Amino acid sequence: DQKQTIYFGAGPAKIPQSVLLQAQQELLNYSGTGISVLEMSHRSADFNKILNKSEGLLRELWNIPDNYKVMFLQGGGSGQFSGVPLNLIGLKEDKCADYLVTGTWSSKAAKEAEKYGKVNIVHPKLDAYTKIPDPSSWTLNPSASYVYYCANETVNGVEFNFMPETNGVILVCDMSSNFMSRPVDVSKFGVIFGGAQKNIGCAGVTVVIVREDLLGHALKECPIVLDYKVQAEMNSLYNTPPSFSIYIMGLVLEWTKNNGGCAAMETLSKQKSSMIYDVINASSNFYACPVDTACRSRMNVTFRVGKKEGDEALEKKFVEGASKRGMMALKGHRSVGGIRVSLYNSITVEETEALAAFMKEFQKEHQ
Ligand code: PMP
Repeated sequence: DQKQTIYFGAGPAKIPQSVLLQAQQELLNYSGTGISVLEMSHRSADFNKILNKSEGLLRELWNIPDNYKVMFLQGGGSGQFSGVPLNLIGLKEDKCADYLVTGTWSSKAAKEAEKYGKVNIVHPKLDAYTKIPDPSSWTLNPSASYVYYCANETVNGVEFNFMPETNGVILVCDMSSNFMSRPVDVSKFGVIFGGAQKNIGCAGVTVVIVREDLLGHALKECPIVLDYKVQAEMNSLYNTPPSFSIYIMGLVLEWTKNNGGCAAMETLSKQKSSMIYDVINASSNFYACPVDTACRSRMNVTFRVGKKEGDEALEKKFVEGASKRGMMALKGHRSVGGIRVSLYNSITVEETEALAAFMKEFQKEHQ
């Protein structure tokens, strides 16, 4: 690795160095075409190959069934906070949707959906996003158009380790921050979406996987670029797609495949996150993770330093000390404070080990 920096950012996030090097090598003249992917027409045969490669790898890695369309859209995960209700809330007459609100991102998604229909938060409101309410406390509406949840709450470090049971209602999931970090049975979902900038590439492209029979129900006010039916039928080429981001995604997915695919990513993610949680658990509350042990994220480990509520001066020192050792982007999201360690697929065990060692050293010095 030519880089001295270990980048623990939450997204955009680390991209495997082999991918960056390949992109660099191919930047001026892609595969003998004489031009850069940055310059290439999105309707050219060469770009079509790039698009098909990225889609093929996604399908292969997650075993996506044939009756699902894969789209590459713009607007980010946030664009899909609108895209989902615009396309699906009209599936049933009541225009009503069930939402699980377990963190910052699902909360934003629920607010956006309220613009287009009725939103039912299925569980008692949480004071803090540190747990997933027990399914026995949920009141799902059988006539909801869909049930929505966020598989991994990036800001809060809360991850589902189970799939919600919806009794036949369409299940929709935001997997932005744990995309391709474990095998997923796509056939259980109506829609899965995620921005690429964490586990599968760079910012600019949002993957939307949608079951074919859900196409064609968009509200009439749905912007055409967000209309699943239009984009699915046009193979994501209704308008100019984020072509370079789609290309980078192909390289990252190839890297994922060559490194054992999603099953290997899952094993590694458990190993890496355990290394950090183990240090926290053994720290006699010098480090405190507010999240229930049952739903601690493998992707974003959040904790406070010094005491349960966090000692901000000490947390600042922690971030500075880590930065001196080349470990960057450890500051928690501005809305929650503390420390956040993002351990996406590209982060290695060795990089995680370096952080775990620093955490132990820091505790010894400052306890
Ligand atoms: N969902 C999740 C889980 C996220 O982590 C993020 C971004 N961090 C978003 C949605 C929003 O994505 P974007 O910034 O691409 O709109």
